[in-house]
Amino acid sequence: MTEHWYPAYIGLGSNLNNPILQLETAFVLLSEIPLTRLVRQSSLYRSEPFGGIEQPDFVNAVAALITQLPAAELLLELQSIENKCGRKRTDIKWGPRSLDLDLLVYSDHEINETNLIVPHPGIGERNFVLLPLGEVALEVYVPNLGRVARINAHASDLAVSRIE
Ligand code: AMP
Repeated sequence: MTEHWYPAYIGLGSNLNNPILQLETAFVLLSEIPLTRLVRQSSLYRSEPFGGIEQPDFVNAVAALITQLPAAELLLELQSIENKCGRKRTDIKWGPRSLDLDLLVYSDHEINETNLIVPHPGIGERNFVLLPLGEVALEVYVPNLGRVARINAHASDLAVSRIE
């Protein structure tokens, strides 16, 4: 294992079982991942569901981490947190979920494995990711997409509002 600290950005989403509490718990669990520090957390955003399925609104946020874990090990930690928070892996694609954690960006790495694609392919089209990501990482360069500040211009038009 390397001792280099890599910046990593995590997208959080929930629309079941008290989403705000789910995200607050997730931030605490993210801060407890070994060899990892939680550096910043965005505000929470309420967003219209994506994918055309009738379901409750989502609450979304982004966490900025630095980590010594390789991306694949970080993904395992994220999945373990999802499982602790009651996530059932049978959830339908884009359906309701108690907690979804996506590895959005891992340093300047581009990863194309069967179980891990980084940067996360949804970044460029989802304003419920881009708005909170912009809060914690406006100047960060996302491979193939450019700086977060510039990607915002291409965000989708789903309604997203910051929770005060
Ligand atoms: P989801 O239903 O959105 O949580 O998708 C979970 C699946 O996406 C898992 O099987 C992961 O292995 C896979 N996956 C691929 N790339 C990523 C990524 N960047 N972050 C999180 N999950 C990913």
